[in-house]
Amino acid sequence: MQQIAGAVEAGKPGSFAALGTAFLTRLPAAPVPEPYLVGLSREMAQTLGFNPDIATGPEKDAFAAYFAGNPTRDWPVDALPYAAVYSGHQFGVWAGQLGDGRALTLGEVEHDGARLEVQLKGAGRTPYSRMGDGRAVLRSSIREFLCSEAMHHLGIPTTRAFAVVGSDLPVRREEMETAAIVTRVAPSFVRFGHFEHFYSNDRPDDLRKLADHVIDRFYPHCRAEPDPYLALLAEAVRTTADLMAQWQGVGFCHGVMNTDNMSILGLTIDYGPFGFMDGFNAHHVCNHSDTQGRYAYGRQPQVGYWNLFCLAQALVPLFGDNLPEEGRAERVVEEAQKVLEGFKTRFAPALVATMRAKLGLAVERESDDALANGLFEIMHANRADFTLTFRNLSKLRKADASGDAPVRDLFLDRAAFDAWAVKYRERLAHEPRDDAARADAMNHVNPKYVLRNHLAEQAIRQAAEKDFSEVARLLDVLRHPYDEQPGNEAYAGLPPDWASDLEVSCSS
Ligand code: AMP
Ligand code: MG
Repeated sequence: MQQIAGAVEAGKPGSFAALGTAFLTRLPAAPVPEPYLVGLSREMAQTLGFNPDIATGPEKDAFAAYFAGNPTRDWPVDALPYAAVYSGHQFGVWAGQLGDGRALTLGEVEHDGARLEVQLKGAGRTPYSRMGDGRAVLRSSIREFLCSEAMHHLGIPTTRAFAVVGSDLPVRREEMETAAIVTRVAPSFVRFGHFEHFYSNDRPDDLRKLADHVIDRFYPHCRAEPDPYLALLAEAVRTTADLMAQWQGVGFCHGVMNTDNMSILGLTIDYGPFGFMDGFNAHHVCNHSDTQGRYAYGRQPQVGYWNLFCLAQALVPLFGDNLPEEGRAERVVEEAQKVLEGFKTRFAPALVATMRAKLGLAVERESDDALANGLFEIMHANRADFTLTFRNLSKLRKADASGDAPVRDLFLDRAAFDAWAVKYRERLAHEPRDDAARADAMNHVNPKYVLRNHLAEQAIRQAAEKDFSEVARLLDVLRHPYDEQPGNEAYAGLPPDWASDLEVSCSS
């Protein structure tokens, strides 16, 4: 344990913590009674340079206590964990100051050339908790833990998760539940909302300090650009556009794409009422508190773009140092708009490329977009299972319909599928690859295993009874989403009937 405590350092030069008190408040976590380990990513332990066996060996109680935020000794004052302040737009409306209301960053771990921030989510109230209790419940913590790791293994940029620790401490949500703490790990937890905070508080010096921190740490090449801050915006545009294409490509709905939940590094961040779609519905809303459907599946890219506008607005005071004073204000707005336009030129081709790969198309044709849209239309009309449709499509043959059944049977309207399959086969005739090579390529981009709601639910129900084996098993399955996993087919199947009314709310 000394090894871990010693490895997590607060306030090293160049760290977010070193930005100072305008950016964060240091405070101890609020202890929880009798913490126990619920889940561990052994792979993340290795990434952080920790021995994963500590979590289950003789020091397991000390491990759980540490990652619950329970002080194993007095926190040295300058090494106290910290909560960061940020603001943001929530559901399209300016929400003012928010901040880490229940997250505390322990510090940074430096290992194998990487610097990673280690953060506890659910570790008690902070100055930014507003009406909240500073806690997270076991249910949402398991979901965040599993999905963070699942997304990483899908190849989608995300914050990671190292551990989940539970406690019997009661926490009130719609019902009484119990508390848990997830240890999240990321190079940075800076959000669009951080920039909005210093902009809206009219603190250009702090705004610049923050932007400099992000540029120096993550985008040093921006310094060579005529306007490094505009280049930073361009990086956010690029990474966000790519992220949106990737989410759309696996049927992932984030659920709460507020600007405070948008990572400046283009990572998937803040897993709340997210969901992977089972039956495809272009307008699927995974957050039942989102009554307007603002964050529906089909709207995510547009919302990403909207959020980038908020970021651009916040960065305006930094733009234009390189421009002559005369007419600078107008030029700055023009330049920022040009950079934002880059979202469209980046996202649309990224999405087409994603869809082309999902369809197993190696060569490019004008009509590919229409072909993909045609499939989405019939998937939507039939509520065909998103993951299985693409996975099973790889079994279809170029020459005849003998391999159609596994995908065709997912459509109630078989005629509609057959009509689309005719076009698809015509298109495949222009492809150089044979069926086996195409199937192999498709199976590297169309996952077989995703964190379906009912799978998470099963693991959660067992964990609530103190049986954590399913959390571990599911994590194992999700670490290899593209592989055939003999014996694990049950994890790739359609959701059972009992799961049809599962609802996920904002309360977590
Ligand atoms: P979210 O939509 O979950 O990302 O949260 C929005 C804001 O509310 C953030 O500032 C969170 O830190 C804060 N928040 C959410 N839940 C709680 C809670 N239980 N206690 C304190 N703050 C919370
Ligand atoms: Mg959040």
